[in-house]
This record gives sequence, structure tokens and C-alpha cells, in this order.
Amino acid sequence: MRTQLADFIKDTPEGKEAEEIVRRCVHCGFCTATCPTYQLLGDELDGPRGRIYLIKQVLEGVEPTASTQLHLDRCLTCRACETTCPSGVQYGRLLDIGRGIVEEKIERPVGERVTRSALKHGLTSRMFGPAMRTGQAVRSLLPESIRAKVPERRDAGVWPRRSHARKMLLPLGCVQPSMSPGIDAATARVLDALEIEVITPPASCCGAIKHHLNDHDAALVEVRRNVDAWWPHVEAGVEAIVMNASGCGAMVKEYAHLLRHDPAYAEKARRIVELTRDLAELLPAHATTLANKLGSRSAERVVFHPPCTLQHGQKIRGVVEQLLRTLGAEVLPLAESHLCCGSAGTYSVLQPELSKQLRDRKLEALHAQQPDVILSANIGCITHLASAAQTPVRHWVEWLDAKLS
Ligand code: SF4
Ligand code: SF4
Repeated sequence: MRTQLADFIKDTPEGKEAEEIVRRCVHCGFCTATCPTYQLLGDELDGPRGRIYLIKQVLEGVEPTASTQLHLDRCLTCRACETTCPSGVQYGRLLDIGRGIVEEKIERPVGERVTRSALKHGLTSRMFGPAMRTGQAVRSLLPESIRAKVPERRDAGVWPRRSHARKMLLPLGCVQPSMSPGIDAATARVLDALEIEVITPPASCCGAIKHHLNDHDAALVEVRRNVDAWWPHVEAGVEAIVMNASGCGAMVKEYAHLLRHDPAYAEKARRIVELTRDLAELLPAHATTLANKLGSRSAERVVFHPPCTLQHGQKIRGVVEQLLRTLGAEVLPLAESHLCCGSAGTYSVLQPELSKQLRDRKLEALHAQQPDVILSANIGCITHLASAAQTPVRHWVEWLDAKLS
């Protein structure tokens, strides 16, 4: 696509990056076929090609409107369009740039500003944990809309105490330790069973929440803080930085790109990305050991929902399903597995109607073969699906840990 960037952006790093991305788009429209919001709304401007066109106009100096902002807001950032695109258009990065410009030019109504600010500061605040525990204690009394965001409290079990020569860093995110502490404990136990010790730095947000709410500067503060907190462990020789929430993993893998112009952090961020591994990248190497430990205990009918941040963001596809099969589970087929479940970070709060439609469509597909359990790999998807599922929804590492114990 030909572009003529406006003076305000053309000589900036964002302008140059955006121009390169837009030029790659050949306007073929293949991506619209796999876009969840286009499928629901049937409007070209609610599909990737239309959104690219809107961003291109803004980059060329056309003043955005509230309608431009709405079409960009409705995007889930699922990046299914990137997986489909034959030209390698990095839509997610273009959207970040486009949304950032529109955010500066269009003032949101007061209600939206309050909600977005509450999400940005509330989810990443130290008070989130106590608030979640209070919510869990009175969960049955909460209105349905709030109860859906508060998972039932489950015992996390005991954290392993053994020391091993092999060490990996397990960063604890902002919401997962209080919403579902069993995921981190299960990760530590599974790695302990493989004679790997996990080291946990103080819990902090990976930066994704603020980044996706268009507060890029505040997100970078969190990104740099994490690099500072993790770097001594990198220098001490940890083998890997383990990610058990694919949304956080996708964000951390962007650190090198986000800090590429910062001489104090660029090299450290590059090294951190090099070490970052989702569980799906770590555990297949131990499949034989795990299978021997499991015996026939894993013979269960499971279905796996691959989060967008795993399959489209990190391009890790079919790996968990294959590992589960190797471990003895019957992995049931899933229709429309490329489609987002509607969780998408804070999307379920900001776009509740679209989010609910996608959740219900996803649950219908997940329940089709009557699995014993629904497995996934991201706290957001797990909580969102569990809010209306008739079948238990778990992180796949929790399932594996339960079978090992
Ligand atoms: S990121 Fe997802 S919702 Fe957004 S345009 Fe691409 S496919 Fe559609
Ligand atoms: S599939 Fe790729 S090249 Fe084709 S319209 Fe979509 S983004 Fe552009």
C-alpha cells in the first residue's frame, strides 16, 4: 500500500516503523476471514484491513474521530490476522502506534477515562491481592458480572523447598498470584520434579496492561523495572526465564523491541528475550521423563484452548496438544481453534458484549466433544472461560502437576 506520511510523524521511529508495515499490506483481505470482530460485526472497519486503512489515514494527517477510536478499540489484539497474512504485516505493532496517536488526539468521555484508569492502576496495584481475596471470600454474594471476574479460591498446595543445580527464573505477574496462585505453585512443583529449581523475583506486572491501554510510557517504566529486577539473576546464570501466562510471555518477548532505542537497556532486554521461554517451549524436552512418572494417570479426555498470545503472539502452535498426547491424554479436536475467546486482557471489561459473544462461541466449541477438563495457558482466558463453563477449566501445568502428585 502506498503511503505519504504527515510531517508530525514521518521522521520519528514510530512513523518509519508504521510506514514499513503499511507498505507491506497488499490489501488482499485474507486476514478478514480469520478476524473475530469482522466475523461478529461484518463491517470492513472492524476487520484488520479496514483498521490498517484507518491507521494509514491518521498517519497521513487525516484527523481521527471518535468512530476511528471505536473501531480500533474493538480490536482484540488477538493477532489472528498476522497468522493469516501472506505478506508478513505486523499488524499488532501498527495497531500500537495507531492507537497511541488516536489516544492523544481524541478525548474519551469521562466514564471511559475512569474505567481505563481504574484498570491501569487497580490491576497492577499492591491492593489487588487483598481485594481479590476479599472478593473470593464473599464470591457467592457478588453480582454475576463481578463474580465472573473472581475465580473461586483453590488451595495452591506446597511450594517445593529442594535446591537443584539447574535454576530458572519464574517472574510472578500482577494478577495471577492472587487470582490463581496454584498455577505458579504447580509450575514450581513440575520443574522441581525435573530437578530444576525456580527463583521468584518480587511480583510485578510485565507491562502488558498499561501497554494495551495505550499508556506506553507507564508500561516502559514497568518493563525497565523488570529488567532491573531480573538482570542480577541473568548475570548469576539462570538457564531460562519461565513464562506460565502466555499473555505475559508475549509481552516480555517484545522487551527487546520496546527498548531498542535505549542504550542503557537495549542489550539487557535482548538477552532477557533470548532467555524467555513459555512452558510449552521448556517441557517438551522432558516429555519422556514426565511420561514415565505419569504412567497411565494422564489417560483423560481433555481439550486445549490455545490462547491468542501463545498461537498468534508467540507463534507456538500445536506444541501443548502434542505434549499432552505424548503424556497419554486423549486430546479432543477443537473447531475454530484460531479464534479468540474474548478475554483479551481488559477487553472483557471494556467491550463486554463482544467479549461475551466470543466466550459463548468458544465454550460451545470446547464442550462439543464433552471433555473431562478444558485446559489453557493464560490466566485471562482461564478465568474468562471458567465464568460460564460447565466443565472445569485449568492451566495445563496445573493438570500435569495434579497427575504427577
Ligand atoms: S488483532 Fe484480532 S481482532 Fe484485531 S484486527 Fe487482527 S484478527 Fe481482528
Ligand atoms: S492479509 Fe495481510 S496483506 Fe492482506 S489485507 Fe490483511 S494485512 Fe494486508
